[in-house]
Amino acid sequence: MIDLHSHTNDSDGTLSPEQLVEEAVRIRLEALAITDHDTFAGYQRAAMRAANGGLELVCGIELSARHRGRSVHLLAYFLNWGPSKKFEDWVISLQASRRLRNEALIEKLCARQVPLTLEEVAAHGRGLIARPHFAAAMVEKGYVRLREEAFEKYLGESGMCFVPRDEPDLEDTIARVRSAKGLPVLAHPCRLKTQPDKLEAMLAEMCEAGLGGIEVYHSDHSSQQTELYNSLARRFGIARTGGSDFHGSAKPRVALGTGIGEALNVPYKILDDLRRAL
Ligand code: AMP
Ligand code: ZN
Ligand code: FE
Ligand code: FE
Repeated sequence: MIDLHSHTNDSDGTLSPEQLVEEAVRIRLEALAITDHDTFAGYQRAAMRAANGGLELVCGIELSARHRGRSVHLLAYFLNWGPSKKFEDWVISLQASRRLRNEALIEKLCARQVPLTLEEVAAHGRGLIARPHFAAAMVEKGYVRLREEAFEKYLGESGMCFVPRDEPDLEDTIARVRSAKGLPVLAHPCRLKTQPDKLEAMLAEMCEAGLGGIEVYHSDHSSQQTELYNSLARRFGIARTGGSDFHGSAKPRVALGTGIGEALNVPYKILDDLRRAL
């Protein structure tokens, strides 16, 4: 079994990169990709520990991009040889847009009688600050009981304090990943909440732009969705990936490797095919 989608506390997961590697070794994963949001720091920290533990570690990153007015998550793999300075600088510029969003979000929350400081939020992460850290701080301060409630009421797209992030265009993001010699993959297509025919049209555009794969197996996918995404991968001749999207106790229902209710079991062959697709 492998897992090609996971987060450390270098983004919004709760395990350190070293702890994540240890957990992967403990459950005997054959390969693990770390795909933190907007940073390679977790992968880099985990690489040494993985080599010592005999775990095959795959370099990944998860980027948020904009396509026809909506936010789309893109996974990019195999940038471990040290992507170009240009790509790394661009990733750092994405972190800046996140900081601006975070400041605006603090202001909006304060205006809605949910006073929080950036320091209180930052205390729940290590460097990069994402919305789950806001949710954790809101639980700690007693504004909401559950993190999920923080998203529903305040932080989510329909929440009263939602602040959109300045996100790069999806076509541009795909092109940048390609020119840095990485493989761009559409993450959790179920989140697009799109009818099958619309999804097919969207995928056609994305493949035209250079998309190399689609995440077929994911904790949030039903077996029907997995079947649909498998057939779309075949139709467009792109690679298939799969992973749990593990975030540690930030998403307690999702287990590394096996996802929710042990429904996930991504075979090693998927990684072999992925390497060939590059
Ligand atoms: P950010 O990158 O800071 O916008 O935060 C995005 C992260 O928040 C995603 O990767 C999810 O892990 C989490 N997230 C987004 N929407 C929700 C939600 N409705 N409930 C729980 N977590 C969410
Ligand atoms: Zn996340
Ligand atoms: Fe995502
Ligand atoms: Fe993710």
